[in-house]
Amino acid sequence: MPADILAVTETRDGVLRQVSREVVGAARQLSAAMGGGTVTALVFGSAPVEGAASLGASGADRVLMATHAGFGEYNPDGFAATVASVARDYAAVLFAATATGKDLAPRVAARLGVGCATDVVALGAEGGAVVATRPVYAGKVLERVKLTGVPAVASVRTNTFEASAPSTARPPDRPTAVEALQVPEFTQRVTVTGVKAPEKAALDVAEAPIVVSGGRGLKEPANFALLEALAEALGNTAVGASRAVVDAGWREHGAQVGQTGKTVSPGLYIAVGISGAIQHLAGMRTAKTIVAINRDKDAPIFKVADYGIVGDLFEVVPRLTEEVKKVRAQG
Ligand SMILES: Cc1cc2nc3c(=O)[nH]c(=O)nc-3n(C[C@H](O)[C@H](O)[C@H](O)COP(=O)(O)OP(=O)(O)OC[C@H]3O[C@@H](n4cnc5c(N)ncnc54)[C@H](O)[C@@H]3O)c2cc1C
Repeated sequence: MPADILAVTETRDGVLRQVSREVVGAARQLSAAMGGGTVTALVFGSAPVEGAASLGASGADRVLMATHAGFGEYNPDGFAATVASVARDYAAVLFAATATGKDLAPRVAARLGVGCATDVVALGAEGGAVVATRPVYAGKVLERVKLTGVPAVASVRTNTFEASAPSTARPPDRPTAVEALQVPEFTQRVTVTGVKAPEKAALDVAEAPIVVSGGRGLKEPANFALLEALAEALGNTAVGASRAVVDAGWREHGAQVGQTGKTVSPGLYIAVGISGAIQHLAGMRTAKTIVAINRDKDAPIFKVADYGIVGDLFEVVPRLTEEVKKVRAQG
């Protein structure tokens, strides 16, 4: 039976976030698994959101815009009330498993009295019900959950679903109209008073095309300067970290890659002085090309690496940086 899916998008500073397109892509995939149907993207804002109409090109058949003076920042009560007000029209409601989605999806599910699958890595259908696959036990096991309530509510892991899946229900040359959605009355119990930006305008590891990550092998926080230099030489590169160094306070949590950090899927991932624990691999193994630098030839990271350099990072990284600079200088 055809199923209509609602994809809840996210914005930052009034601009759509890349994860929004992934949620729409996941919705497109689920709708196909359920026998077709439409995909509606829901956008929040205090003013028109840049890029909302372009969601059609990413697979949305309809775009609903919920505009409210209090929607410039994340508004837990307002967003939950708005999603819940239309959710019953859909077979499933999908969110991104970001900090916002992790907060919002369970709120919506609780309002609707249905279950909620979080951090989902695959979606399918069985006998008309949504089946979600999600990692448990720190990524050691994947469980399949059948969501029997309607709508099914789930948050999808970032960098896991295709960002852009073309809609089959809508001709590609027809622009998607942005329809206004009436925001229902809601009681505001939680107010976001501000959003703290990272101190440096660094690239987000989850969105950068190249990620250079460091682990405990770097010995002390100051040595991350080696990775910053390599990142600068490569260009368009974010510096990530293992949980061990984040827990030690060497790097900010926003840079953590892995099960309890961010999932990354860059074209190139360079793991420096990282052992390759299963929880770290859970966040980076889908990178297109993985390079590992480690002095222990038996380090588990080499099992997933496309290229492995067995050596002392304090010798290897500066030499690599010099070579990258030389190659780039040659154009
Ligand atoms: C529930 C749970 C969730 C977790 N979530 C995450 C997560 O999201 N992300 C994450 O990363 N971890 C996570 N962990 C922790 C994970 O299990 C590991 O403890 C952690 O990844 C180890 O970090 P590391 O590789 O930097 O350090 P280590 O395991 O100490 O490895 C350091 C590596 O550096 C190498 N090295 C040392 N000196 C040099 C040198 N001079 N040159 C070259 N190589 C050198 C060593 O050979 C070693 O392989 C989680 C754990 C649990 C239990």
